[in-house]
Amino acid sequence: SKWVYSFGAGHNDGKAEMRNLLGGKGANLAEMASIGLPVPPGFTITTEVCTYYYDHGKSYPPELKDQVGTALRRIEEAVGTRFGDTHKPLLVSVRSGARVSMPGMMDTVLNLGLNDQTVDGLATASGDPRFAWDSYRRFIQMFGSVVLGIDHHRFEEIIEHVKLERGAVEDTQLTAQDWQRVVDGYKEMVAEVTGKPFPQDPQDQLWAAIGAVFGSWMNPRANTYRRLHDIPADWGTAVNVQAMVFGNMGEDCATGVCFTRDPSTGENIFYGEYLINAQGEDVVAGIRTPQPMSEARAKPGERSMEAAMPGAYKELVEVRATLEKHYTDMQDIEFTVQQNKLYMLQTRNGKRTAAASLKIAVDMAREGLIDESEAIKRVNPAALDQLLHPTLDPKAPRKLLSKGLPASPGAASGIVVFSADEAEARAAKGESVILVRIETSPEDIHGMHAAKGILTTRGGMTSHAAVVARGMGRPCVAGAGGVTVDYGAQALSAGGQIVRAGETITLDGATGEIFIGSVAMVEPQLSGDFATLMEWADKVRRLKVRTNAETPLDADTARKFGAEGIGLCRTEHMFFDPERIGAVRQMIMSETEGGRREALSRLLPFQRQDFVELFRIMAGLPVTIRLLDPPLHEFLPHSDAEIAEVAESLGADVVAMQRRAQELSEANPMLGHRGCRLGISFPEIYEMQARAIFEAAVAIAKETGKAPVPEIMIPLVATRRELEITKAQVDKVAQEVFGETGHRVEYLVGTMIELPRAALVADRIAEVGDFFSFGTNDLTQTTFGLSRDDAGKFLPLYVEKGILPKDPFVSIDPDGVGALVKIAKEKGRSVKPDLKLGICGEHGGDPFSIAFCEEAGLDYVSCSPYRVPVARLAAAQAAL
Ligand code: PEP
Ligand code: MG
Repeated sequence: SKWVYSFGAGHNDGKAEMRNLLGGKGANLAEMASIGLPVPPGFTITTEVCTYYYDHGKSYPPELKDQVGTALRRIEEAVGTRFGDTHKPLLVSVRSGARVSMPGMMDTVLNLGLNDQTVDGLATASGDPRFAWDSYRRFIQMFGSVVLGIDHHRFEEIIEHVKLERGAVEDTQLTAQDWQRVVDGYKEMVAEVTGKPFPQDPQDQLWAAIGAVFGSWMNPRANTYRRLHDIPADWGTAVNVQAMVFGNMGEDCATGVCFTRDPSTGENIFYGEYLINAQGEDVVAGIRTPQPMSEARAKPGERSMEAAMPGAYKELVEVRATLEKHYTDMQDIEFTVQQNKLYMLQTRNGKRTAAASLKIAVDMAREGLIDESEAIKRVNPAALDQLLHPTLDPKAPRKLLSKGLPASPGAASGIVVFSADEAEARAAKGESVILVRIETSPEDIHGMHAAKGILTTRGGMTSHAAVVARGMGRPCVAGAGGVTVDYGAQALSAGGQIVRAGETITLDGATGEIFIGSVAMVEPQLSGDFATLMEWADKVRRLKVRTNAETPLDADTARKFGAEGIGLCRTEHMFFDPERIGAVRQMIMSETEGGRREALSRLLPFQRQDFVELFRIMAGLPVTIRLLDPPLHEFLPHSDAEIAEVAESLGADVVAMQRRAQELSEANPMLGHRGCRLGISFPEIYEMQARAIFEAAVAIAKETGKAPVPEIMIPLVATRRELEITKAQVDKVAQEVFGETGHRVEYLVGTMIELPRAALVADRIAEVGDFFSFGTNDLTQTTFGLSRDDAGKFLPLYVEKGILPKDPFVSIDPDGVGALVKIAKEKGRSVKPDLKLGICGEHGGDPFSIAFCEEAGLDYVSCSPYRVPVARLAAAQAAL
């Protein structure tokens, strides 16, 4: 078998499509080399070797050694140097590279191949002993920390020590001899910590680094990251070994990280940072301040690459165009300039904010790089959510604390915490937290995930915090140098002001500002690129999108987001209003029909007004109103005062009321006296609700000349007879209201399918009902026999253990719940071919479930207002 793929210098075994085998980095290095871009030669050890390694007790395929040897010789021939040669040594980098970029794994070892002999060769060959010794100490440091697992600060201490002795402040003040002393210190320390001398044989170094990459695939941080991102462990990682090029050989050398477009805003400008005379990690480490790429972006005092290295910059601008045209997507690239010659070290599709992803997709379609359907596919529907959330109200008062880099847009308020664990713990209690760190590392990912926003005091726009926050959609202010963090004192300070852990701050990730306390926010703008993409999505989607709403505010929001009607109005939510709850309790507690009717007559005007407002806002669009569903005891009075109040309103005594409350309580209310069972035992309740609906519909018809078509929905039906009885009640009230008002409106009476039995006898139910709406919350609960109120305690474990692929209350279970949906559809449509079918459980706003609904042939999905745009886009993607 072939375990090793070469690239560069005219020998490219791989290509971009081989990402699964070569990892993202390896596949793209081969691709760049094969389209003629300047890539230093190297080779990729495949992800299959990683899988083999773990399947065979951490050993390699027997052929690997030879294949690596051959590939290494190919590099030597291309570069004209030899691995381990004391005069002209070949140095290589070793990097991991999974299918998707994955923080948490071993990242990079540079300058591998240096030892006590080859360092002299490098000094002679480069004519720069300082460079050679600096390279050697960097190698020991990287190898020591990522391969040998030695704590970072052990190396820092030694440098600090030498600096102190030499009275130096900056690294740049250290000479070749100084670096040599650092190297001696490092080697001594490594020997002391590991009990073995630092490996001198380049072959040993290489195989140790390869082993460290494979080993890091299973480390706890990588495991956490995979779990959070649904990445299977058996994908494995590849290892890339590549000839070194040096960005730190002098003033005509540089290294940089950039994006072909702005990853925060999506703006079509060349965006990034570079450093002259530096090696890769210097750019991200934040020790020196990186400089901008283009002169247009340079601020006073900054030196753009365009100005400093016009030749290499021009070449890079051409590479940028080539890459975008070739990959038809925004690229995140790494490059090095060695003695004015440009080398490409990486390209991949760039991570971006939701806002940028939207703008880039729309712009690229307009530029002709992609077509409209591709643009639709490019935007992650779930990420749209971010764009719909509030930003700081420009008029709101605020107290500026300090400012950093606008690393990831959006605004967030929360209490300050200083560790990822604390962020996770407090977020789990429902608190909004802002994670504040000097800088973040892959160990902080879980805390960044839990936080509403992230603030760091060190690092640039490509720092770990910035990149990860953008990917996660968390607002982030990075590199706020004016803020001092004191972990020990659990406080941060800036300009003499102190904020302690637990106090509130607000971040504006779009400006980089940090405010003390919370700042009012405003709703987002839904025009421009957002509207354009939605328009394109609406052209291709088949599924209609409605909303779940019962308040005018929600209905209004949903309309603005493009809802095409209401798919679920939960009328019980209208009963909790302080003005109404008294009458609701009176109705429940009354032991006579007369008492109930009297209470219901007090509720009628409120209900009618609710529906008038909803019909008005929905202006002719369908409105599905579900009659009372939950068990009555949910409305029971709790406190003594509440019981006394109800007793008085009913002219009953308190003891009788307490007894009645006990009568109403149930052992298993979710499967108890609820849904249509209530409508059947207390017909007057559904009668009042139907009356409110028809009177409102007639009122609107008179007011606007256009009658709404209410869709009245009966919950928790299990048998045809239940629907027949409740539908007859509704029809009777309709006739009464039409008689009284002299006005008729059209209406439908349908049912929810939320019990397995209903799905299985859907043909009989369809003979009575005009439509079905799948209540997949209850259908999931009853199909799995899994309490939707308690499952949170153990379901995460099920997902973690792989017993269930996802939480079935979030994403529909296609095999079980989905099968019932399909059965109900088949059976229902066999009786009524044009039976209207929708879904109104939480799944209606989940992209995966929406794809299922498209495949199942439903007519519409209904979801909460903020998810309406998500659903519109997901429905379009499902149709493509
Ligand atoms: C459902 O069960 O899916 C549903 C929409 O109803 P509710 O969530 O109100 O029970
Ligand atoms: Mg339900």
